[in-house]
Amino acid sequence: MSAHHDLKQPIYDPSVSFIQEDKIWELLNTNTAPSQAQVQAVLTKARLCEGLTLEDTAVLLQNQDCELEQQMFAIARDIKNTIYGNRIVLFAPLYVSNHCANACSYCGFNADNHELKRKTLQQDEIVKEVEVLEAMGHKRILAVYGEHPRNNVNAIVDSIATMYSVKHGDSGEIRRINVNCAPMDTSDFAILKTAAIGTYQCFQETYHRPTYETVHTKGKKKDYLYRLYAMHRAMEAGIDDVGIGALFGLYDHKFELLALLAHAKQLELDCGVGPHTISFPRIEPAHGSSLSEKPPFEVDDECFKRIVAITRLAVPYTGLIMSTRESAELRRELLSLGVSQISAGSKTSPGGYQASQDDQQDSEQFSLGDHRAMDDIIYELVTESDAIPSFCTGCYRKGRTGDHFMGLAKQQFIGKFCQPNALITFREYLNDYASEKTREAGNQLIERELDKLSPSRRRNISQCLTMTDEGKRDIYL
Ligand code: SAM
Ligand code: SF4
Repeated sequence: MSAHHDLKQPIYDPSVSFIQEDKIWELLNTNTAPSQAQVQAVLTKARLCEGLTLEDTAVLLQNQDCELEQQMFAIARDIKNTIYGNRIVLFAPLYVSNHCANACSYCGFNADNHELKRKTLQQDEIVKEVEVLEAMGHKRILAVYGEHPRNNVNAIVDSIATMYSVKHGDSGEIRRINVNCAPMDTSDFAILKTAAIGTYQCFQETYHRPTYETVHTKGKKKDYLYRLYAMHRAMEAGIDDVGIGALFGLYDHKFELLALLAHAKQLELDCGVGPHTISFPRIEPAHGSSLSEKPPFEVDDECFKRIVAITRLAVPYTGLIMSTRESAELRRELLSLGVSQISAGSKTSPGGYQASQDDQQDSEQFSLGDHRAMDDIIYELVTESDAIPSFCTGCYRKGRTGDHFMGLAKQQFIGKFCQPNALITFREYLNDYASEKTREAGNQLIERELDKLSPSRRRNISQCLTMTDEGKRDIYL
């Protein structure tokens, strides 16, 4: 396969880091004890849903007043509700390969971990994994790969084509595949784009260069700048939606959050559009990684909630992803503060959806805090969080990506598409995959949601729901 895309010319210098460490420390140090008035001013600005500067964000990070912190949480909840409503998008990671030539000291896939059973799924094994995911009701996959010659762009493209081709039962199909793999050159990104991926996701892990160099001592990932500019190259290659993230626990969380937001702003400046999503992995214990047993800058749950809430205020229109890695209870709280996507029913080893528990432990990346099945998670979302689980993939298939998506989001149009699509795809799930108790609770939730709508919108969505009940699938606006 060859790249066909007209590559855009870079207007930045990839040999120079845009993360200004001194400036980040200066912002934190000059705001060590912000006054109540200062914090109030930032909170007032945050209510406008227009985002925050790095300095505003530093003020919130340094705030120590509990009452103001509660106000900040309340604003995060309001912003989440105004912009995203009570929808929560669900996805499942699919680990295709744990072969890896790098030696990231926090990851179970590191090349020095000789205990790990290495596995790269063959096409027929991918089919089986996808069938299991489709049978759970999943429509979105995050495909994950170690960095290894086996996992070159052509192999990745082939594996994605296989995933899209699997149709299990009457209505099983994958409608959006996001990818988390090592960064590549612009020309390879252009090939990756041909696989019709949704978001390209890659985390800087730590933006603090000395720490980065300490935890990445082997392989291509050693190159901080190559990774830092990965999203610039992906966008040059025409990939509209990119997802950034930091692995919390490697370095000071305040520094990481400001750097993460600096990255988002730099993308907006250089490429015209910021990241589609931000992810918040925290280091989990991984076999074969002593660092992961005791992360050097562990982030506790309270601090993690603050990180999510502050990000919600700083970049109100960016999707926030919580992966498999958090416990059910914490997920619930983080959902209310601004998380808009979660994974459900996930495994972190290649072939993990098929394998027995023992086999999984031999080949998994790290262990998970939430072992419940998808149906249980959905039941809990509906009954305890009053959240609408959404399997919607409409925006990307209607071309509402990149700056088009951002333009729409900024005018608060998300509700116009996302709310109906969430209700329709949730009804599909309830009809095709849910247990009886989840179906009953889910349909009650749909009725409550319809009651909140104007008569004309209610009529339109009810028509789509009726068509879904009559057997039509994949209706979306
Ligand atoms: N190999 C590619 C890379 O490193 O970008 C993609 C796959 S890698 C498995 C995906 C992500 O897993 C990494 O970016 C890292 O943030 C996360 N990760 C690695 N070890 C982890 C751990 N012990 N706990 C939580 N997340 C971890
Ligand atoms: Fe390999 Fe990615 Fe794990 Fe690093 S984080 S060891 S590159 S799979």
